[in-house]
Amino acid sequence: MVTRRICGQASTVSNPHYDAPVRYPVEQFTAEERAILTPHFTNLERPVFALVNLPETVKGALFARYSRYSGTVRRLYLEEFAADAPAGGRPFDEEEGARAAQLYERVFVGYGDDSIAQVGGAHVACEWVSNILTKLLQRGRLAAYLEQSTRYIPYDQPLPGGGYRFYRDEELGSEFAAAMDEIFAIYSRSLTEVEAWAAERWPRGDGEPEGPWQRSIRAKALDLLRGLLPAATLSHVGIYASGQAYEQLILRLMASPLPEAREYGGMILDELKQVVPSFVSRVERPDRGGEWISYLERRREQTESWVSRLGLDRRGGGEDAPSVELIHVDGSEEDLLAACLFEAASAPETEVLARIDVLDRSERGELLTALAGDRANRRHRPGRGFEALRYRFEIVSDYGAFRDLQRHRMLTCQWQRLGPDLGAGVPDEVREAGAGGEFERALEVSREEYERLVGAGLPELAPYALSLAYRIRYTLDLNAREAMHLIELRSGREGHPSYRAVAQAMHERIAAIHPGVAATMSHVDTSAEPRLERIMSEIRTHRRQVRAAEQTEAPPGLNPLG
Ligand SMILES: Cc1cc2nc3c(=O)[nH]c(=O)nc-3n(C[C@H](O)[C@H](O)[C@H](O)COP(=O)(O)OP(=O)(O)OC[C@H]3O[C@@H](n4cnc5c(N)ncnc54)[C@H](O)[C@@H]3O)c2cc1C
Repeated sequence: MVTRRICGQASTVSNPHYDAPVRYPVEQFTAEERAILTPHFTNLERPVFALVNLPETVKGALFARYSRYSGTVRRLYLEEFAADAPAGGRPFDEEEGARAAQLYERVFVGYGDDSIAQVGGAHVACEWVSNILTKLLQRGRLAAYLEQSTRYIPYDQPLPGGGYRFYRDEELGSEFAAAMDEIFAIYSRSLTEVEAWAAERWPRGDGEPEGPWQRSIRAKALDLLRGLLPAATLSHVGIYASGQAYEQLILRLMASPLPEAREYGGMILDELKQVVPSFVSRVERPDRGGEWISYLERRREQTESWVSRLGLDRRGGGEDAPSVELIHVDGSEEDLLAACLFEAASAPETEVLARIDVLDRSERGELLTALAGDRANRRHRPGRGFEALRYRFEIVSDYGAFRDLQRHRMLTCQWQRLGPDLGAGVPDEVREAGAGGEFERALEVSREEYERLVGAGLPELAPYALSLAYRIRYTLDLNAREAMHLIELRSGREGHPSYRAVAQAMHERIAAIHPGVAATMSHVDTSAEPRLERIMSEIRTHRRQVRAAEQTEAPPGLNPLG
């Protein structure tokens, strides 16, 4: 029975499939077979069931074999897998290593392809990782990630073993630790100051409960000061991913120039060897993982050498302002309309496009509105036709906003190494609270330590020293469907003003080129607040300067509809 709420009324809807006459074969099992199957299948009668109490690698092997087996998966389990299971029904968790490895090898050798490692997964927690490493962990996209929030957690508390929460490495030297201690000390002092200011600035309303008000004041103070925290700040990340995604993750970490990444790559591998050993067995084979890692390292070195040869590695001369530029567009609103109609039509896409071509402007507008549908909330998203349009944005924002936007997975995010050249902003409210001078001093300590590390021949490690308020340049390359999701979600007033400003600016840029598409994004929150307004004004000023410099109507690839 499923309880569903319809138009405010609770109504009980019986699941019709359970009571319906059987329209599919129901397999018969003996009592002995049922005893073997019951611990591992959530039912033995229906055509939909879940696999439980089986190691991930066994489930992977079972599904891999399934693709070439004419019977059902329960029968397959009985015929080919049950004999390997320990007696008593309870699964092979402790012995998974040897048993599952044998099963996996047998199936993999016989039927192997990479997809076997897609059908089993594991939860892994990576704790005390720097804000640089969190981005590398999440770079793969084909997984689920949860990360500790700098908006809800104060970083003024010491680590369990003492000292502030930042990444430490002997190679970085004692000067690094001293600089980080100073920044965190400023953060701690400023937190008290800014919180007191916020409590006065937004006093508790009549009848407003004390607890929620206090939490909102704290959140405001944390939001305003998060820009102080250095990229070395430690966080926790929870990951749920398939074996295949983990293999890629480990290879990527092992090939990284960052010692922290290589160390965590090794630790993730060690833990996965305990729970899904076969899925990651290729990593340590010199002829597989070894060569793969060498390929990734060589590829990076060659890219860097070409960047240097082309003179593109010179830093400095940055524009000390946030910006959001739409640097390339693929497709027109007509392409989107045709793609939206395509699946319901029976004609080739060229014919669909020709038919759209004769519609006048208002008919096209009406059609687009109808195809987007009545979107009661932002989760009601139009179909795949919206994926026919693609936008490439180049963004300069503070590292804090980048960190949050980078986590969207249905897009391609590419980012440059964090440096101080693009400047950093101090929130006006922090100045109003009287902590502006201290904030600036922390930024200076951070920049000086960055420069010291670069001077000491450690350019890869130097970004650890930089505060999240420093800006970074990155691209977000995404289709119109994902743009709708990202812009509507990230413009929401519960979000941080620096990424809200980026989302609103992205919407403005899309509206300038595809007004109809922008109008379908009906849940964009355009409300403002002082900090957001200031960032938007900086972004718009930058835009005007770019246009003046370009003296052109549109950058290459843009196709204004007029
Ligand atoms: C105000 C705010 C605060 C937040 N705070 C935190 C926080 O403290 N900690 C934290 O960890 N996260 C936080 N998040 C969410 C986090 O940043 C999300 O990872 C981010 O929003 C990107 O994920 P997404 O699913 O929204 O979108 P995308 O990754 O862009 O994906 C787009 C859509 O694709 C689908 N999709 C993508 N990946 C999968 C998948 N693996 N499985 C199934 N469907 C998928 C979903 O439909 C998804 O909506 C916060 C978000 C907001 C707006």
